[in-house]
Amino acid sequence: MSAAVDERVTDEIEALEAILMNDVVIKRVGEVPDIIETVVHPSTGDDIDQQFVCVTLEVKLTPEYPDTSPVVTLRNPRGLDDELISTINSQIRGKLSDCLGQPVVFELIELIRENLTESNLPSGQCVICLYGFSDGDVFIKTQCYHHFHSHCLANHLIAGKKYYKEELDKLPLWQQVSAPAYQQTCPVCRCTVSCDVESLKKAPPPMDSVSAPPFCLTAELKDLQKKMAALLAEQVAKGGVVGIGDTGPPPLTITTPADNEIDEASNGSPGGSQDMKAEAVGEARQNGNGSNNNSAPGSPQARAAYRGPYRGFNRRGKPGRRGARGGAR
Ligand SMILES: [Zn+2]
Ligand SMILES: [Zn+2]
Repeated sequence: MSAAVDERVTDEIEALEAILMNDVVIKRVGEVPDIIETVVHPSTGDDIDQQFVCVTLEVKLTPEYPDTSPVVTLRNPRGLDDELISTINSQIRGKLSDCLGQPVVFELIELIRENLTESNLPSGQCVICLYGFSDGDVFIKTQCYHHFHSHCLANHLIAGKKYYKEELDKLPLWQQVSAPAYQQTCPVCRCTVSCDVESLKKAPPPMDSVSAPPFCLTAELKDLQKKMAALLAEQVAKGGVVGIGDTGPPPLTITTPADNEIDEASNGSPGGSQDMKAEAVGEARQNGNGSNNNSAPGSPQARAAYRGPYRGFNRRGKPGRRGARGGAR
């Protein structure tokens, strides 16, 4: 290693490589260590199945490190909500200033691990039912570190397979033969997963869904509906919503001017493999409050098409943060 590298850094890197082995990646610029990267898990002994959360720690060394603080970034949080990430980040800042002048990476790993061990339960919501995870819930961690109630994931995978079969049946036989086989995917990141649906199905429904009071349309919800309807109308007017209010051919299909004429005449779509995409969009349109019949957002038709109960609040009584929580990244 180059003599230009501080001995404290050389020693720290050697120790990291000796202890973490394949679990640490040292990126170098020439001979000089630049970035240290490692995925931190909670302490669960050797029981990997009991690790429900993790986060990637990235430490970018400065030329003067450890006499100046490195730049520390937490990436790819799994099962951690934004609140916990910001708590860990502020503890990291404290640790960095306490440890100025001495190597700090092991301290950071330990600090993060302690936090993860304390919170080794998926926080946030199950993105399928939007309820949180409560004591007594049966949940599953996928290979990609996303969490769902087992009950919900079973229903999701059963519905996914059913939908795949329905779409496959619509294809001409010669295309059915060459169509890719059904593959289970994670509803959050679309990584392929392999789950035993039969055993997932045996899990009870989420506790919060059982104990939830019956749905009731409150004045607060009506107010929210109005705000959302106005927002949707604005986005549709700006062309920012795919499938709602557009009268042209389905997006993401290759079409010719002639296809447009067919579409408008028959409200159908050109044949071949495009059928599948067109149908999928058609379905999405229906789910998106029946824009096929051009009902205005918030109209009686649109309201009638909305079937699900409102679940915009999680178990802590905070507004739902679907898509915004760390675990969903
Ligand atoms: Zn769920
Ligand atoms: Zn995933």
